[in-house]
Amino acid sequence: MISAQGEQFAETSGKFRYEVENVSDFPAVGDFVMIDCAQSMGNAIIHHILPRKSMFIRKAVGPAHKEQVIAANIDTVFICMSLNNDFNLRRLERYLSICWESGAAPVVVLTKADLCENTTEKLSSVEAVAMGVDILITSAIEQDGYEQVLPYIKEGHTIALIGSSGVGKSTLINRLLGENRIDTNGLRNDDKGRHTTTRRELFLLPNGGLIIDTPGMRELGLWNVAEGLDKTFSDIEELSVKCRFKNCSHTAEPGCAVIAAIENGDLSSERWQSYQKLKAENAYAEDAESYLVAKEQKRKNIAKTVKADKAKGIIRR
Ligand code: GDP
Ligand code: ZN
Repeated sequence: MISAQGEQFAETSGKFRYEVENVSDFPAVGDFVMIDCAQSMGNAIIHHILPRKSMFIRKAVGPAHKEQVIAANIDTVFICMSLNNDFNLRRLERYLSICWESGAAPVVVLTKADLCENTTEKLSSVEAVAMGVDILITSAIEQDGYEQVLPYIKEGHTIALIGSSGVGKSTLINRLLGENRIDTNGLRNDDKGRHTTTRRELFLLPNGGLIIDTPGMRELGLWNVAEGLDKTFSDIEELSVKCRFKNCSHTAEPGCAVIAAIENGDLSSERWQSYQKLKAENAYAEDAESYLVAKEQKRKNIAKTVKADKAKGIIRR
């Protein structure tokens, strides 16, 4: 935990733990909390979490209330994608949807410009996918290779990084910190052992900006990102209101604005397919969620009956 007194360990108060109802009510990386500062010995005590202005959530397999907050109060998310091997517009669409859904503002950070020969071309293909989103080009090789990132580092402003392993997230953080605080080059493994090692997840930058780099952000799935999808694919949403039929499936209907846009090249068929795929995936996740909630309820009911039976001396086999 970081306060005006610097960094210290903290734990939740007994009252807090007693009153807590959901896993998501516990403090997460990025939370602002009200504390009693540590005395000479012992930890600071957390009494209260301030309302979160943005949240990245992971749903555990199980009932809906078991959602886990991976990170909170992120202002800006750097979606990191390398201009060489990792370049993938479809993955970018997925990340954008998750970001918009969280309430944080995405910024696309294209890394390893030094390893790319057609940067201009790639930049315009990113612009077509990330409409209205800032796009930055970086390179670790050049002295001023992170110049474009600096204006986003502001006092009291929290940034988180997402993107595939190896795209240069740690390199970027180290550069901003001005020292090598995290291992790069894949030394920081993504294996199972990770959760047992304590790794710093919140970095205070020299100018008062904050960076969150938590492993959980790497495993983000697409859970209930309906709104995020609509925002990411606002071009398609706009087209579909122009279809002649209100319930147009955009497959073979006459007067379909989506099909027309694909035919005249305004909408690429890859983007259209990506949209359909993510929509289907999201619908599946929502279905799975309600299925799991129902199943958990059923399990609870059975458990209740068994308990009641036991009390009455009835044994079931
Ligand atoms: P992370 O997994 O996203 O944290 O990626 P790292 O920061 O560990 O970087 C993975 C590898 O890519 C390391 O060997 C870095 O030195 C290298 N790397 C990072 N940024 C750049 C860059 O802009 N240009 C080049 N050529 N290599 C880079
Ligand atoms: Zn249509």
